[in-house]
Amino acid sequence: DKGLLPADFFAYEELLSDGEREQLESVREFLRTQVAPIVDDYWARAEFPFQLVEGFGRLGLMDWADPDSPESRPSNLLAGFLALELAHVDASVATFAGVHTGLAMGTILTCGSDEQKRRWLPAMSRFEKIGAFGLTEPHGGSDVAGGLQTTARRDGDTWILDGAKRWIGNATFADLVVIWARDVETRHVLGFVVEKDTPGFTATKIENKMALRIVQNADIVLDGCRVPEANRLQNAHSFKDTAKILRQTRSGVAWQAVGVMFAAYEIALQYTKEREQFGRPIGGFQLVQDLLVKMLGNATASCGMMTRLAQLQDAGVFRDEQSALAKAYCTVRMRENVGWARELLAGNGILLDYKVGRFVADAEAIYSYEGTREIQTLIVGRAVTGGLSAFVR
Ligand code: FAD
Repeated sequence: DKGLLPADFFAYEELLSDGEREQLESVREFLRTQVAPIVDDYWARAEFPFQLVEGFGRLGLMDWADPDSPESRPSNLLAGFLALELAHVDASVATFAGVHTGLAMGTILTCGSDEQKRRWLPAMSRFEKIGAFGLTEPHGGSDVAGGLQTTARRDGDTWILDGAKRWIGNATFADLVVIWARDVETRHVLGFVVEKDTPGFTATKIENKMALRIVQNADIVLDGCRVPEANRLQNAHSFKDTAKILRQTRSGVAWQAVGVMFAAYEIALQYTKEREQFGRPIGGFQLVQDLLVKMLGNATASCGMMTRLAQLQDAGVFRDEQSALAKAYCTVRMRENVGWARELLAGNGILLDYKVGRFVADAEAIYSYEGTREIQTLIVGRAVTGGLSAFVR
């Protein structure tokens, strides 16, 4: 069947329309020809392949977000399968795209005025201007709602931002960085778009990462960084608005985890059919089949959960605790799958040439970013107990 992921055991992809599957296929072609051949090399050197950005623009993934030429918004199921497909080839490239589209553009779409959308989204939708999303701070990311320390002070028609951000993906080269800061007067969290080269803004690459090495994460310092009131996101009034973005993007991360799970399974399946020990392929041993089938079960169950979640999103009945459960569940299953795949490749499993080592390392970052398993668990725990919050200060 054309394009169907070999591991899509329950054929979830058939739930997409023909047009959607064509779009998925064009993304697959780009990944197969442009991305897959180069990612190991860029991963090893911890460099970002800037030559891919133009190709991303040509795919038209975000055309619908250009307010001046609105296309129809893709279904959440297609958006999910696109995230899956990117991560299935490389989690760093998926993260670059997720930060730009989901976090940065998603914030402007949700919290920007019409004028702000017109100002920034057309170039972003063509990947001509790249975005980043600065929420996490050096002292910690879990308590970011109550503990956010970056300040915003109004001064006439401008705001002065002071503070620091950590781990901000794409920020070393981004043209537009969303910065979340606390209004010193009202104490509410507000969102600002800081444009590249604004005085008082510096972004320094975080070196020596052992995961998602292609993604350029930065430490940001805001030192009297002055931005016009026109760059304050007009519909971001408190952390509740920040949470709306995370609700959407956490489900995107769960889809990425499904992509990594499928990749790990496929690599292990191929290898165990070819690798021989004791005079026959190791895939014929019962203990090996046990791991392969558990991996297939993890990927199939997670993809089913995400498919149903996408339907709920499309129906507009989608809650924080649902995306939190999806992110927690799928990333735990992902970690199992990459570990088992590595186990089945044994020594070769730690070599970059056999690919699974890259997925093992990258899974660690996906497991923790956009809220750790513990924090997602507490969001779900609060909901199912009728509001008994274990983590509010
Ligand atoms: P901490 O908050 O210090 O947590 C440490 C440990 O304590 C965790 O295990 C946590 O679960 C646990 N813990 C904390 N509170 C509780 C509690 N109440 N109960 C139980 N356990 C608890 N952020 C951005 O804003 N933009 C980005 O683009 C971005 N990209 C990232 C990319 C990468 C590769 C990484 C690693 C991170 C990125 N982040 C980004 C930050 C990310 O969201 C945070 O790392 C994450 O939220 C966790 O925060 P922390 O690392 O500070 O851990």
